[in-house]
Amino acid sequence: MNDFAAQRERMVREQIMERGIEDTAVLRAMRTVPREQFVLDEYRDYAYEDSPLPIPAHQTISQPYVVAYMLEALDLQATDRVLEIGTGSGYAAALLGHMVAEVHTVERHEQLVQYARERLATLGYANVQVHQGDGSLGWPPAAPYDGIVVAAGGPIVPPSLKQQMKAYGRLVMPVGKRGSQNLVRLVRLSEDDYQHINLGPVKFVPLVGEEGWGKG
Ligand code: SAH
Repeated sequence: MNDFAAQRERMVREQIMERGIEDTAVLRAMRTVPREQFVLDEYRDYAYEDSPLPIPAHQTISQPYVVAYMLEALDLQATDRVLEIGTGSGYAAALLGHMVAEVHTVERHEQLVQYARERLATLGYANVQVHQGDGSLGWPPAAPYDGIVVAAGGPIVPPSLKQQMKAYGRLVMPVGKRGSQNLVRLVRLSEDDYQHINLGPVKFVPLVGEEGWGKG
């Protein structure tokens, strides 16, 4: 029998805490969300491995540590409203659902929208809304956001996303080439002024869209 709860606890200690993640809300969410329910059935036994895993539509569910790192960098409060671009499996959206008041997540692949919606509904995440569309343009109906996290890499930070940040809102996103990027963190200081920090090299699937890598 698979003791997923024990594997999850071990993942949090060995992959997340030992690498320096301290945000208690991130750690609590990672201790709670069953990652095994977001991976494909044939990968369930690997759900708590220290790596990304394949999901439908040739996409991936990110490595747990990278997800934790990005969520910590968003510096979230329980009352925040957050936008995620690149729903994928819905795993990161579920973590966000535990951490903040309201989550909007946008996915371009219809197949993944359904995949994520089914899983989030089964687990009862009522504060997470999955939208289908081009997330490089953000999700204007619910803007502005306290936090925006992009789970796919683009050539630049999309101007639409910068416009949808609240004052002092945070954005975390991989920016660079198609095959390798740097994780950047933006804080909106005023209407046109953003603090920009480089958090180091990462590898994400491409952000395909109008303000990403064109139309795939
Ligand atoms: N956060 C996800 C991992 C996402 S992988 C998880 O927890 O499982 C990145 C996702 O971004 C892929 O599903 C891909 O289809 C999606 N994506 C790429 N470009 C996009 C765009 N312009 N708008 C919305 N989603 C996009």
